[in-house]
Amino acid sequence: MPDPMQNRLYRRFFKPVRQHLERRPIKNFSWIVSWEITHKCNLRCQYCNVHFERTNPDPSKALETVVRLQPHMLLISGGEPLLVPGLSGIIERIFRECAQPHLVITTNLSVHKKAILPLLPYLYTLHVSIDGVEGLNKLQRGIPAEKILANLAEVVKYKREHGLELPQILTATVVTEHNFRGVPRLVEVLYKLDPTVIMTFGTVEPQEHPLSLVHKPDYWEEFHQIFWEMKKRYPVEIVGLLGNRLTRDKGLKERPADDVNPMSVGPKCVQCYRQFFRTVVLPDGTNFPCKPGRYLDYYEGRCQAASNRGDWIGYGREVLAMLRDIRFEPYRPTCYFPCKCEEFMDEIIMARSVEELPSQARFFRGRIGGESGRAAEAFIRKYFNPGFSLELLNGGPHDRS
Ligand code: SF4
Ligand code: SF4
Repeated sequence: MPDPMQNRLYRRFFKPVRQHLERRPIKNFSWIVSWEITHKCNLRCQYCNVHFERTNPDPSKALETVVRLQPHMLLISGGEPLLVPGLSGIIERIFRECAQPHLVITTNLSVHKKAILPLLPYLYTLHVSIDGVEGLNKLQRGIPAEKILANLAEVVKYKREHGLELPQILTATVVTEHNFRGVPRLVEVLYKLDPTVIMTFGTVEPQEHPLSLVHKPDYWEEFHQIFWEMKKRYPVEIVGLLGNRLTRDKGLKERPADDVNPMSVGPKCVQCYRQFFRTVVLPDGTNFPCKPGRYLDYYEGRCQAASNRGDWIGYGREVLAMLRDIRFEPYRPTCYFPCKCEEFMDEIIMARSVEELPSQARFFRGRIGGESGRAAEAFIRKYFNPGFSLELLNGGPHDRS
């Protein structure tokens, strides 16, 4: 039962402060837009955190938001984006009006091949989720892997027949204690299908999730051994908390003493620069960058927990930290709820030479310039990296040239 005192405190104090902070303009350059185009999905994966809807929303409002944001890289996900009617028309318009952004679609690839083939000429990356073969995909995601593999084979065939180098196909496997020993078999099957497929493996995030492998250090170690064996022969990568050294090192350095969880191998707190360069667009068209929205949610949860404990000093500390992060030092890059999304962007922002740029820098080459590009350059130099220059990004070839 919520404490009435707590509710009064929320209504009289926290809510107006939150509303005030929500209205504060915080710069975001939206170089990367992650568009959750629908929350409808034909699957129900064990670890999914999407708040499902039964129907597709009208995408026109969200489309206007995306066009207004003029992303240089656009990631379309869901739910299941291939269920959205008229998706190819939507993508054509974005291509026309947003100067051909680097376009990525994430799909479970379990709907009819007709939904994906017409989109291929526009895509730079096709991100396909698959958790294993021989029953493992069915166990975690509810459908047999054969259906996904059959559609993937159609995509590979289409690319070959049309002489397309792109889209690059990336598979994404969520590794849990149930499927990690099946990874070698999955890798063999995918490699046989197309040796250019890049296979990525990550754990369930957030790390607090009970299925997350970060809670099982023995399994985690065993998976790493399996992975490094695979890495000798196949194009495999680990992503996110399971393997990102950058995140883990940053987390260890930045983690505040009172946040240490000895059972957790993942970071509780990281330096994140990309939060000012990426945003999420929701199916209803809401533009939701990390700051202030996610920070306010985080601090609201912390204040709630402190008030439940009757810890008013702790409550006051949380409010002060919230004011520091959003009101007084809005460009402080610390994040307390780290995600694995587009981590390469941090490396781009902090690069001082072409050698320090990650390979993903090619996504932006030839795309960033003009007044908005110069404003972003000045912003990075002022707050994060005085050695940054747009010339670094624009020095090489465009990624479709
Ligand atoms: S396919 Fe994606 S959106 Fe659909 S249930 Fe699985 S994880 Fe969730
Ligand atoms: S690490 Fe945190 S601030 Fe950065 S993008 Fe992820 S959720 Fe946003």
